[in-house]
Amino acid sequence: MTKKYKECPKCNPKNVAKIVYGYPSHELYKEPEEGQVILGGCCIMPDSPEYHCNECDAEWRKEDMI
Ligand SMILES: [Zn+2]
Repeated sequence: MTKKYKECPKCNPKNVAKIVYGYPSHELYKEPEEGQVILGGCCIMPDSPEYHCNECDAEWRKEDMI
């Protein structure tokens, strides 16, 4: 299930965190592939980013990568 949307569009794709909205569940911690998870708050908007780059602070959604 490795998709390109996990890659930062601007720099190193290996330093990307997934942004999770809502309250963290136990399932959240069963995704070791993700590397890092950051909390984006309890509410998600239609245009809320899903991924955050720790290198250049870019944020994007997987829809943006298609
Ligand atoms: Zn980046």
